[in-house]
Amino acid sequence: MRRLAWGVAYAAALGLSPALGQDSSALQLYTLPAGATPSSSQLGSFSININPGSGLSGNSAALAAFNRAAAHWMAYVSDPVTININADLTGGFASANIIGQTSSVLLQAPYTTIRNAMVSDAAGDSFRAIDASLPTSAQFGALLPSGYSLSGNLQLTKANAKALGFTGLDGSFGSNDATIQFNNAFSFDYDNSNGVTPGTVDFETVATHELGHALGFISSVDNIDGAAAAFADTPTPLDLFRFTNGGVNDPANASQFATVPRDLRPGSDVLFTDTVNRFRFSTGLTQGDGRQASHWKDDGLTGTYIGVMDPTLPSGVVEPITTADVKAFALIGWNAQVPEASTWTAMAAVVGMVGIQAWRRKKPRLTQSTTQV
Ligand SMILES: [Zn+2]
Repeated sequence: MRRLAWGVAYAAALGLSPALGQDSSALQLYTLPAGATPSSSQLGSFSININPGSGLSGNSAALAAFNRAAAHWMAYVSDPVTININADLTGGFASANIIGQTSSVLLQAPYTTIRNAMVSDAAGDSFRAIDASLPTSAQFGALLPSGYSLSGNLQLTKANAKALGFTGLDGSFGSNDATIQFNNAFSFDYDNSNGVTPGTVDFETVATHELGHALGFISSVDNIDGAAAAFADTPTPLDLFRFTNGGVNDPANASQFATVPRDLRPGSDVLFTDTVNRFRFSTGLTQGDGRQASHWKDDGLTGTYIGVMDPTLPSGVVEPITTADVKAFALIGWNAQVPEASTWTAMAAVVGMVGIQAWRRKKPRLTQSTTQV
């Protein structure tokens, strides 16, 4: 069932341009089959399958960079599922400011169906212990702008649903999980192994970021932020970790995590928290800090780089996956682990790069906007 009644584009892509970038993607909302239940006995390994269009398959350097981006996620995730991504490097974008866009297939189900899948999928995983305290439907509440209510459902990307063990989704909804397009009018550096050429955008970072949205790093707050009228909101798994930063609605323990309302108000100072790890979110393109809510807080605004789901990317810079990213993806349903010791060398290099960004920030920051409503 398509639910486009909101008339709001789902914003879940990294937009980049010399001045302004843009995230935009069309909302596709389907309903999970009645009685859909996650399977707990899958075996196999995680795989991201890139189905390149002619513009990408004809650019071997770009395709190789995209596959490295997919490999970054595969290094952290062990769910026995295959994600299928249609991707292309193409023209014909609605705006010259759009460098890339992702359209994920979104599924919805009653709150309890997805909440229980998150709880059971995380069972026995100490890295995801907080998921056991996800609110029941009776406990769940949210801070919303005036006039808004909760629909009673949760929505998530089809890829995220696969991670939670829902099966038969490709048969019901088609094999594709998301479509990612890159604007071939931009200058990309397709090989960051020797640095990123000044003035060009690191294609591998953008691809990694876009794949992150496809895997489920999305927020319904972007729908609220761009809406012309109030509606019944359908939060995402990531929204279940979105809390007011500080005060009585900032949970300090598992008990409070189960009962404190989530904060889904554009413009509200919010953070991702499992009561131990705390990472700020962006607060909204229109009513918030000028960045889409489905991102970490912009390091260009705070000076603190949180992870690859940062909303902006300067030219000439690589932005890698961090433990913050991995934590978030784990808690929304992925069997994701923090980096092994062998990768800490790479992480250390990242820390060094943050210092470099201090002076790079003098360059125009790439920001994003959305025009689809
Ligand atoms: Zn993005």
